[in-house]
Amino acid sequence: MLNLVLFGPPGAGKGTQSEKLIKKYGLVHLATGNLLRDEITAKTPLGIAAETVMAKGELVSDTIVIGMIANKLTENKTANGFIFDGFPRTVAQAQALDSLLGEHQTSITKMLALEVNEEELTTRLLLRGKDSGRADDQNEAIIRNRVQQYYKNTLPVADYYQAQNKCTKITGIGSIGDIFDKLCAEID
Ligand code: ADP
Repeated sequence: MLNLVLFGPPGAGKGTQSEKLIKKYGLVHLATGNLLRDEITAKTPLGIAAETVMAKGELVSDTIVIGMIANKLTENKTANGFIFDGFPRTVAQAQALDSLLGEHQTSITKMLALEVNEEELTTRLLLRGKDSGRADDQNEAIIRNRVQQYYKNTLPVADYYQAQNKCTKITGIGSIGDIFDKLCAEID
């Protein structure tokens, strides 16, 4: 199985690159942000609980997101592999993912970390907010809070995979095609 963690701050291009990677490599895309937004749309208790947290740009609890990923792994037992996008966002989530994958006799192959500076991220997210309609993309203070959450809680996840010699850094600035080619070169 090919199991990739596509890592990077909000607005780094994880969603865009994931869409291209799942097509090329036949992988299942597991994006916790999308899964949470589906729960919000369906007005489930989980979605209702997550909505206020996401609107502030804070992280949803580890228990909730780990539970969602556990369900998806069980639902997709025959997959060629997975792209984890926006997950793990904390070291506790990374540890839980390792043990869940272990229960399915598999493991993370590689983490690909997209690097983009904060000013570029803010510009991209404000632009995306105009089309996406996402409330958390439309307010600069909330965007900056998401980026701060990333530096504080999520960046240590890169060290976690680095300690396993699985982390590769790639610059996330340039054309979508060039960045995709660099990601594929790492995977191949
Ligand atoms: P972005 O990468 O642009 O922030 P996402 O769709 O990945 O977009 O995430 C949107 C929001 O969903 C986050 O700000 C956070 O509130 C919540 N979220 C998504 N994934 C996780 C996760 N793994 N752990 C905690 N919260 C999450």
